[in-house]
Amino acid sequence: MSKIKIKVDADLCIGAAACVTVAPETFQLNNENKADVLDHGQAPGGPAYEREVEVTDEELENILLSAESCPVLAVFVYDENGRQIFPR
Ligand code: SF4
Repeated sequence: MSKIKIKVDADLCIGAAACVTVAPETFQLNNENKADVLDHGQAPGGPAYEREVEVTDEELENILLSAESCPVLAVFVYDENGRQIFPR
């Protein structure tokens, strides 16, 4: 397991929903057609564009795939030390 932070830049996000298709447990479109970040399908504390989540290696791979699928690279992923993992 590792702890990561996932952030969607709402100014960049165009609601293309590629991230939602690849990682529906992590992303969900909100009323403004932007991607909210979920924690395993849940949104504790309410909707948010950024969230810290504990993930397995497999889940992390899938989240990175979803970030790569975003046509405008609006998804940012950081490790537990705050180092940016994606975009690389
Ligand atoms: S793929 Fe990118 S643009 Fe599309 S909803 Fe996700 S973050 Fe937004």
